[in-house]
Amino acid sequence: MARQMLQICSTCDIHTLKAECPNCGAKVVQAAAIKWSPEDARAHLRRQLTGVEGEGWSGTLPTLDDSEE
Ligand SMILES: [Zn+2]
Repeated sequence: MARQMLQICSTCDIHTLKAECPNCGAKVVQAAAIKWSPEDARAHLRRQLTGVEGEGWSGTLPTLDDSEE
C-alpha cells in the first residue's frame, strides 16, 4: 500500500490519485509530502490579517441561520 495517495507524473508534472497519469498514461511516482507543521509559525500573521483581536470580529463569523439561506 502506498505511503500516501497523492502521486505525480514526472513527465507532465500532473498530480493524481491514480496509478497512471491521466494525461499521458505513464506510471506515476509518489509526490513529495506536503509541508506541514503542527506549530503554525505564521498563525499570528493569519490572525492579524483577519483582525481576530479587534472588536466585532466575532460578528463576522457565519451563524447557523446564515448557512441555511
Ligand atoms: Zn503524464
